[in-house]
This record gives sequence, structure tokens and C-alpha cells, in this order.
Amino acid sequence: MLEELEKREDNERDEEIEEEDCEEEDCLEENPSRWISNGFPEKVIIVGGGPAGMASAIYAARAGLSPLVIAPSMGGQLQGKGVDVENYPGLHNFTGPAVIASMRAQAIQFGAVFEEDLVTRIDASSRPLKVYGNSTGSIEAHSIIVATGADSKWLGIPGEFELRGGGVSSCATCDGFLFSGKHVLVVGGGDTAMEDALVLARTSKKVTLIHRRDSFRASKVLADRVMNHPVIEIQWNTVLERIEGKSLPSPDNEVDEEDEIDLDDGSVSVDADKVVSGAVLKDALTGEQRKVDCDAVFVAIGHSPNTGFLDGVVEFDPDHKGYVKTAGYSSKTSVQGIYAAGDVSDAVYRQAITSAGSGAAAALDAERYLSEEGLGNEEAEMEAELLRELSEMNDASSSHSDVGYNAYEDVGGRVQGVRESFGAEM
Ligand SMILES: Cc1cc2nc3c(=O)[nH]c(=O)nc-3n(C[C@H](O)[C@H](O)[C@H](O)COP(=O)(O)OP(=O)(O)OC[C@H]3O[C@@H](n4cnc5c(N)ncnc54)[C@H](O)[C@@H]3O)c2cc1C
Repeated sequence: MLEELEKREDNERDEEIEEEDCEEEDCLEENPSRWISNGFPEKVIIVGGGPAGMASAIYAARAGLSPLVIAPSMGGQLQGKGVDVENYPGLHNFTGPAVIASMRAQAIQFGAVFEEDLVTRIDASSRPLKVYGNSTGSIEAHSIIVATGADSKWLGIPGEFELRGGGVSSCATCDGFLFSGKHVLVVGGGDTAMEDALVLARTSKKVTLIHRRDSFRASKVLADRVMNHPVIEIQWNTVLERIEGKSLPSPDNEVDEEDEIDLDDGSVSVDADKVVSGAVLKDALTGEQRKVDCDAVFVAIGHSPNTGFLDGVVEFDPDHKGYVKTAGYSSKTSVQGIYAAGDVSDAVYRQAITSAGSGAAAALDAERYLSEEGLGNEEAEMEAELLRELSEMNDASSSHSDVGYNAYEDVGGRVQGVRESFGAEM
């Protein structure tokens, strides 16, 4: 009888605690991927929500590390790719956002949690490491995977932003095939522009390379190949003034002269129904302007890795400004416990698949580090300790009293899971 009463009291207390938890945690069941601190350092924090971050999250979650992913707007560069990502193995009918949404759902399924925030600083001067978010403040972590990508640099000219996805791109490897047999422009004079022009020359009818100076700063080998290529024409001392677009043809929307739009109107919204139709070029020496017809414009003037928040924390690649330096064939940075994956540490390949691959590698590196150092077991250790205490108290109560000592009152129901597992074991 006494036992039964105790049991009922326990059940009631459990229900009360569950209700309190629901209020405190904003009813987690409604949003199981929301991060709630458990009071212990995170095992791994992943900074960035692009393919590298998502792949890290899937691998870390499946390794039982309950990763926390911090990124301001989930998706990264692929979020801006409205057409299919045709070169991602197995997902060729998915747009960029759909690829990311699928990766995110997979990560959540295995226990990854998310916090929408911008990381502003990392403190590696003591252990655990500390990650500072713009609104979340400081979060402790035993390991960190940096997957913040590298943003393309843009010219900031009229039509460039509005026609992104409609023929304006910064990735020839990604979008070049869409313009097979067409006339495309490439802007730039460095290695990236040379590589893009050569990639596009394989499939496009004509490639016009626009460069504002009278010589390239690219490596001689690449520049020579570009200058001798029969499909590539070079416009020296030329700047791209603006990009023009036209409405997409549709059965009930025939394109005619009136549909031509001049985007030099201050408009700033991306127009999914418009495609590139031409560009206005300016002679850098004479100022003379002229129009060219073209189907796409590839801006190849470089990338900026998102690494400002790592200044003074990790070493950077001496050959590629701003990119995080990793050790050999690994994701290890110069700081133990901090790893880098994806475009942020890769100035060469910059693809979704290579980023996802290195994200997986970073999670494996982090997992190995935690195992070797014996880190990240605090919660399990505390649960084990509580279980031991509970067990001792229960033994004591059964041998000294028949009044029915309630061990849960002593530990205050600190860890709900402990009680559950304890109950199951008894
Ligand atoms: C228009 C376009 C089309 C492309 N098409 C293709 C394609 O068809 N196929 C292909 O393979 N590749 C394509 N790419 C390249 C591909 O998108 C990138 O290589 C890939 O997204 C890099 O992944 P990542 O995870 O390293 O970085 P990103 O995708 O850049 O993700 C970086 C993440 O970090 C977050 N972040 C940045 N700074 C911070 C911070 N301080 N704190 C917290 N979070 C931060 C960002 O919000 C973002 O979530 C394309 C790129 C562009 C721009």
C-alpha cells in the first residue's frame, strides 16, 4: 500500500516536472531541433549551415555527439541557387534550397540541434573553448567545426543582383553547362577568371573575357591557354557597366521588344522571370560604351572567406588570403579541437560535394579528438553518479525504515532521464 502511494506521488511529480520543462523549453516537442543548453559544454559546435556544416552535423549526430549547428540563415551559397544542382550525386532533381533542406532534415533526424545566430568570436585561450554568438552570448564547447564558407565577390553593378539565377553567376563549374552552345561573358583577370573561361569554352559557343587592364594577373600557363583558345575572345581595358535582362518566354507571354527591361532603375529584387539578354561595356581608356548580346555573365573576381571572427585564433593559409589553414590531409586547424571544413578552407575546389565531403571528415576528426581526450562525457558521468547515489539511498531506506524513504526528494529530480532509467532498472 505504502509502495503504491509512493509510486503515485512519484508519477504526479514526474508529470509536474514535465509540464515545467515544457514551459521552460517552449514545448520542445513542437520544435525538436531547437537548441536548449543542458548546462554542460557542447561536445561539438558546428559554425555554418551550408553543405559542409550539414554533412558535419549528420556525421557528428550519428556518432552520438548531439551537435549544435550555429548559422544565421541556414543554407549558405546553395540557398541562392533556384535551379537544380545538377552535379550533386544522387540529387540531380533538387534545387539548391531543396538539397540543403534535405540535408538539414537528415541531420535533425539523428539528433542535431540548431541555433540561428551569427558567430562573432571564438575564445581558444582556455578549455572548454568558447563560441560567442551575436544574440546567444557565449557557449562552451569541447570542439568546434568551422564551416562558414567563402562568399563570391560581386561587381555591384545594375542588373547583377536582380538577374542572379537568371544567367548571372559566380560559379562556372556549377552553372556553365546551362549555357551550352550560348554566348557568355566572364569578368576578371586572375586565375579564377582564366579557369572559368576555359571551363565555359568547353560547352559555350563563344566566351568573351572582360578585363579592365591590358594584362592578366593570372599565372602565365593559364593566361596563355586562354589567349590562344579559339572560342575565347578577350576585351582588354574594358569594364562591365551593367547587365540587361528580358522576360522569360512563356506560351502566353511572347517576348517582344517591349519586354526588354533596362535594369538600371535602382530595383533591388531578384526577378526569377527574367534572364540575361545582354550587357553594356565601357572602354576604360576612352569611356566609350557599347552593347553586347549575351546569355550569361560569370563574375570571376574572387571570393572572401567568412573568417573575420577567427582573427588571432587559428592560422590562415599563406597562399590563399583569409582561408583557414588545415594540416595535411585533415580538417585540423592550428588549434587543437578546432576543425575547418568546406569552402572556408578550400580555395581550390569550392563545390557542394567537396564541401560536404570535408564536413564529414571534420566530424570524424572531432569525434576522434573527443574520444582520445576523454571529453564530452560530463552528462553521462553525472547521470551515472546520480544513479549510484539513488541506488545507495534506496538500499539505505529499505534496510532502515519501512516508512518509505523517497530518494527523489533528496536529489530534487535533477535529471529526469536518471529517474526513468533508474525506475526501469529496479
Ligand atoms: C550561385 C551559386 C551556384 C552554385 N552552384 C553549385 C552547384 O551547382 N554545384 C555545386 O557543387 N556547387 C555549387 N556552388 C558552390 C557551393 O554552393 C559551395 O561550394 C558550397 O555551398 C560551399 O559549402 P560550405 O558549407 O563550405 O559554405 P556555404 O555554403 O557558403 O555555407 C556557409 C554557412 O556559414 C554561415 N556563416 C557564415 N558566417 C558565419 C558566422 N560568422 N557565424 C555563423 N554562421 C556563419 C552561412 O550563413 C552559411 O550557412 C554554387 C555557388 C553559388 C554561389
